[in-house]
Amino acid sequence: MYKLSKSIGRVKIKCKNEIRGCRATFPLAEQYCHSLDCVFELVGCPYRGCRAQLLRRDLETHTRHCEHWSQPCHMGCGVLLSQGTQAQHNCYQQLRLQHEAQRQSHRTVAIALKKKMRRMQKAMDHMKEQIALICESLEVMDDKQGEEGINSERSNSF
Ligand SMILES: [Zn+2]
Ligand SMILES: [Zn+2]
Ligand SMILES: [Zn+2]
Repeated sequence: MYKLSKSIGRVKIKCKNEIRGCRATFPLAEQYCHSLDCVFELVGCPYRGCRAQLLRRDLETHTRHCEHWSQPCHMGCGVLLSQGTQAQHNCYQQLRLQHEAQRQSHRTVAIALKKKMRRMQKAMDHMKEQIALICESLEVMDDKQGEEGINSERSNSF
């Protein structure tokens, strides 16, 4: 009995979708497996309300254009979109994300500005220091010039 069922399983059969164009032959045991991915298998459109039966290979094209197409909004707002409502769908979730992104970019700009200001502040501080140093040395020079008179002209010229 076991032997028999085993040899039956090895009998080669043609695909039941032969009339639709499938040329596959396979052991009987693999019939189920084949039917799962036979592109000539008749399958129903997955969208609710659509009665179309199509070859599996045509299903993708059909679902792309099916007038019963419906899908939850990919933004996750929970609205079920259909062919008719998809275009007008004003997704609050999307608006929220856009708003969030805008706020984020404003924040980035603000941070960048602050950094720039800090850098300018530093540069100014540095300049102030330099100016103070220059003033100091000028005062020293003044003093020296005052004290040494004409002689200083030689010693201070480079
Ligand atoms: Zn087949
Ligand atoms: Zn359909
Ligand atoms: Zn939405």
